[in-house]
Amino acid sequence: MVVVVYRYGHRISRDKRITTHVALVARAFNADGIVIDTKDEGIEESVKKVVEKFGNDFFIKTGVPWKKFFGEWKGKIVHLTMYGERIDNVINEIKKHDNILVVVGSEKVPREFYEIADYNVAIGNQPHSEVAALAIFLHFLTDGKWLEKKFDGIMEIEPCKKGKKIRYNYEKILRIEGCNEAVIKHCKMVYELARRIAERIAKNGISVDISAIEAGAMLHDVGRSKTHGIMHIIEGAKIARKYGLPKKIIDIIEHHGGAGIDSEEAKKLGLPPKDYSPRTIEEMIVAHADNLTNTKYRKFRQAYYELKMKAGEKAAEKLRRLHEKLSSLAGIDIDEIVDEMR
Ligand code: SAM
Repeated sequence: MVVVVYRYGHRISRDKRITTHVALVARAFNADGIVIDTKDEGIEESVKKVVEKFGNDFFIKTGVPWKKFFGEWKGKIVHLTMYGERIDNVINEIKKHDNILVVVGSEKVPREFYEIADYNVAIGNQPHSEVAALAIFLHFLTDGKWLEKKFDGIMEIEPCKKGKKIRYNYEKILRIEGCNEAVIKHCKMVYELARRIAERIAKNGISVDISAIEAGAMLHDVGRSKTHGIMHIIEGAKIARKYGLPKKIIDIIEHHGGAGIDSEEAKKLGLPPKDYSPRTIEEMIVAHADNLTNTKYRKFRQAYYELKMKAGEKAAEKLRRLHEKLSSLAGIDIDEIVDEMR
């Protein structure tokens, strides 16, 4: 069944908020899209942003005059009005149709609507709101099944008793930001290795935030969608900020360069002046998992010599210290974990 909502009488100056809510209710309660009579790029943009973050392929179109649109609609037109028939008397009849255009007004709607509509439907014969009327109509139309809809967005909210739990789809973020397949594959490999290292360290009774490691590892190279130079750590942090990710994750991304870039090296590399060395256990694990991952996993010795050639002795020695530190926290040489991965 295709369900499209038509919003009549949108006034840019007065209705921005309520029309946005009509659109959000349409999306959340399983309609396929919304068409609005008045052109309003602001509403288009804010609804598209929600769709981008929270998912599905809901469409929005504004600046579409009703006469032509209703005339061309191939299906039934349901006009929601307090003057209509009781919803419980007509809903079963409406459900039999495949294409349904649900019309809601703002102030007064033209008289013709009552004639053109196949069904004038009242959600109780009292005046209330287009937002409420639409939500309840869609609830009846879907027999409450809108609740089961899967949205597959970048962000998914996990129901919980208290507080807020958000799950992110990191691969989707990499794709939306335009990372190529090689970068995505590398990020997934770093994610796997970083998790293994973190689990070994956690087993030794050391507290490690695994979910921050998962996020930081998957997104550590998201800045490569903008540049493959060292500035990708800054660009990556910027992108993470745009998605409202926690500081802990932003810092993992910003501090993953080599085995740590101090302020002196940062200056030479043209980075904004500050110390980019990994400080927390999570930052260290992701930075080192990245050192040991190229297109394949590699052991410390190989990573050491490659870094020495590329960035010099000082950088390579930092890598040695990081490897030794994490190996001692894990209680085994990290190379053994690399071996298990290969
Ligand atoms: N006099 C208007 C009417 O025809 O219902 C009320 C205007 S109301 C502020 C804006 C919109 O909310 C209406 O165009 C209608 O789509 C919807 N609406 C309000 N109360 C409703 C009800 N009881 N049943 C169905 N729709 C309602």
